[in-house]
Amino acid sequence: YLGLHDEGPPMRTPAPTVAISSGDRVIFDKPRLTKAGLAEYYRAAAPLMLPELAGRPLSLLRLPDGMAGERFFQKHPGKGFPAALKIQQIADKDGTPSSYAYVTDVEGILGAVQMGTVEFHIWGARRDRLDRPDRMVFDLDPDEGLGFAATRRAALELRDGLSGLGLRSWAMLSGGKGVHVIVPLRRTAGWDTVKLFSRGVAMLTAQAHPDRFTAEMSKAKRKGRIFVDWLRNERGATAIGPFSVRARPGAPVACPVSWDELGRIRKAGAFSTAQALERGWADTDPPPAQTLSAAVIAALDAALTA
Ligand code: ATP
Ligand code: MN
Ligand code: MN
Repeated sequence: YLGLHDEGPPMRTPAPTVAISSGDRVIFDKPRLTKAGLAEYYRAAAPLMLPELAGRPLSLLRLPDGMAGERFFQKHPGKGFPAALKIQQIADKDGTPSSYAYVTDVEGILGAVQMGTVEFHIWGARRDRLDRPDRMVFDLDPDEGLGFAATRRAALELRDGLSGLGLRSWAMLSGGKGVHVIVPLRRTAGWDTVKLFSRGVAMLTAQAHPDRFTAEMSKAKRKGRIFVDWLRNERGATAIGPFSVRARPGAPVACPVSWDELGRIRKAGAFSTAQALERGWADTDPPPAQTLSAAVIAALDAALTA
């Protein structure tokens, strides 16, 4: 899997090393993780992250003073961002260009950490073809009170549903409450198709088990159910990137898992930074990029009207 999406020639001039200031600042207190410790984690995790992260517009969740301080999402890089964090102008829906950050290497990741980034959120498309997503993500969001057993069962059912349509997927613990089910895509379909398709899959799942799933975001519809959040599949929407630390108690990591082991996992925040590094992609083995072909779309249509 490593190197699948490698960008550009292998021999690039190394970017200048990013200096991490205030390395002693405590970002998480239990387990204790300082800014320098977080940078060390991300330096080691970079080779695991970059195949999925590189070249995607990012939304950064920054906590400059750690878990005890303020937090904010930053989509548009501001003054003082290190040059290692690269910038691209992207036209918004109304055509107005604004700048987005992306990274291609470990220095870019560390540049974001230097700015207080804890979480790396990624677009579903890469900068060289922003109109053609290369991943479709289903973000399973359990209602309060639903345990992880229900969530992981839901992920397995979604996998089977996708597989019934001819699509293979892989799973990632979000590090928060849920599981993300991801379908790597060949860059043939545009956002409209991918969004409509993912909405159809969410509706199909909710149709099959209306007591347990909903495709609607409304709090009322979600009561006691799992929301199959298909709204990540929109131009400009993001999902948490693999191996990102989550700004939640305990510093859990968004970790890819194999379908086999998912059945044995007890919570979405099961893995610490040390465990994530030790695991790596383990035997997650994401399937190759697939096409939302006319046949696949017809299979979904048929299932929805059945
Ligand atoms: P959990 O498993 O606890 O749901 P999650 O990362 O899936 O964790 P969600 O609230 O379901 O969290 O959000 C899904 C994704 O949508 C996030 O990973 C993030 O990329 C994006 N997102 C959600 N809320 C915001 C927000 N306020 N600003 C920017 N992006 C957001
Ligand atoms: Mn979620
Ligand atoms: Mn969600």
